[in-house]
Amino acid sequence: GCGICVHKCPFNAITIVNLPEQLSEDCVHRYGVNGFVLYRLPVIKEGMVVGILGPNGIGKTTAVKILAGQLLPNLCGDNDSWDNVIKAFRGNELQNYFEKLKNKEIKPVVKPQYVDLIPKVVKGKVRDLLKRADERGLFDKVVKELELEGILDREIRQLSGGELQRVAIAAAVLRDAHFYFFDEPSSYLDIRQRLKAARLIRKLAAEGKSVLAVEHDLAVLDYLSDIIHVVYGKPGAYGIFSMPKGTRVGINIFLDGYLPDENVRFRPYEIRFTKLSERKSQTGEVLVEYPSLVKDYGSFRLEVEGGELYKGEVVGIVGPNGIGKTTFVKMLAGVEEPTEGKVEWELKVSYKPQYIKADYEGTVFELLSKIDASKLMSSFYKTELLNPLGIPELYDRSVNELSGGELQRVAVTACLLRDADLYLLDEPSAYLDVEQRLAVSRAIRHLMEKNEKTALVVEHDVLMIDYISDRLIVFEGEPGKFGKATKPMGMREGMNRFLASVGITFRRDPDTGRPRANKEGSVKDREQKERGEYYYAD
Ligand code: ADP
Ligand code: ADP
Ligand code: MG
Repeated sequence: GCGICVHKCPFNAITIVNLPEQLSEDCVHRYGVNGFVLYRLPVIKEGMVVGILGPNGIGKTTAVKILAGQLLPNLCGDNDSWDNVIKAFRGNELQNYFEKLKNKEIKPVVKPQYVDLIPKVVKGKVRDLLKRADERGLFDKVVKELELEGILDREIRQLSGGELQRVAIAAAVLRDAHFYFFDEPSSYLDIRQRLKAARLIRKLAAEGKSVLAVEHDLAVLDYLSDIIHVVYGKPGAYGIFSMPKGTRVGINIFLDGYLPDENVRFRPYEIRFTKLSERKSQTGEVLVEYPSLVKDYGSFRLEVEGGELYKGEVVGIVGPNGIGKTTFVKMLAGVEEPTEGKVEWELKVSYKPQYIKADYEGTVFELLSKIDASKLMSSFYKTELLNPLGIPELYDRSVNELSGGELQRVAVTACLLRDADLYLLDEPSAYLDVEQRLAVSRAIRHLMEKNEKTALVVEHDVLMIDYISDRLIVFEGEPGKFGKATKPMGMREGMNRFLASVGITFRRDPDTGRPRANKEGSVKDREQKERGEYYYAD
């Protein structure tokens, strides 16, 4: 019961065994002579949310830019007009769309991927920005739904990542258009905020709008989408959009690593989740008992109930943003002093902070060699950690030139390479695509199990939490004011407690075992809420 089944090993990022025939006819865009190539585009459907699922660097944002009219596709030649694009898509569902786009009959609205760049181009107060965007007279509703009341009078440049994300989503939803594009709407958001944003985006489709969304949180993508495209290929080299699939089938295909109707295997193993009934119970040795702790910042107070940690287990940490999760982890790591209580132990702790900095002069290989050169050579670490996270490809790169996702993978690797008793990982999935999230989850699980070590992992991605956790610590309270952390509890109890506060129920997919959010008000949702079983009983 390791959380997943691996049918074929070893594995190596993504390997395409066979490409579809006549692919070159479907070539949409090529960046320069030896640049990235995009094949095919997603469909756009009135009244539907079309989800896009695929790794980083596979062409998702390129497709969004083309459909939003921001990038004229060169059709892998020297095309310079939308007329040729319309011709190329003759007979395709997109022909009509491109005609309207060319004639400016439609105005697409885009929520960009990199919300951190917004303050560079938009100045002023949140209220003014949203008032300007409010073409549908929904200001009050949307502000309430995304819980923006408290920040309306803040300057855009003062906003945190999660606040920027919600403001950007609100600004897009408030616009009056037919086509809406959301590029990674869940980054920086906690689970409640993710599902609230998803609900709001779904409402657009319910009103007859066409929506396209790129998303790496599988639970959110599942909740959000009516149909999905899997994008596969070789990141940085080429990407191919699959035919559209039903959401459930599409995500299962992704987890299987195999597209049956196109006969393409894009991952050599499949991913499966463990049922609650098959999870191991706490039988291992106690690693440590930690005491009750208090941290008082004046404006924010955190109370932590003491608890026990076992060897070989992974404890997930869940709760909203601003509730004290990072503060708790910092106290255990010894970088923050508790106001009351003491962390006095002989344990060796390895800590991956939430906000990672690339303040190292040197290459990835030099950085990791300094931590433990022998592990870089060990076949165990190659198989369990380095290869799955794509680290050898980064060895020669300078640490301070890495992208967000690359830096995250290096930071997680550095943390897990250290010899320690307790591993603390604060939001390891940030900036990672789905494939990398699954690889990181699997690495954490296997290393803790096989080395009989303990990990605490702060995480918002429900599938990752489900995949890695033996138990949960649940944070409750009022974000920014006070937080309370429970002692570690069983998955059922913990998830029930956590999801009840979020107001969302989950069931399990019969084929892959993955958790799926129930649509609000559905039969299952009402049944489970009545029974108090928010976490998919099985
Ligand atoms: P995704 O959204 O799936 O992460 P993108 O569409 O952003 O992928 O990028 C796909 C590939 O195209 C990447 O390898 C990226 O480096 C490359 N690319 C993106 N924009 C440009 C550009 N303007 N010029 C050259 N290459 C680009
Ligand atoms: P989470 O990780 O759950 O998002 P944090 O532990 O980062 O939450 O923060 C909890 C609260 O404590 C927030 O309101 C934050 O602004 C506040 N806080 C965090 N660090 C400090 C500090 N050094 N001084 C004052 N307030 C802080
Ligand atoms: Mg945090």
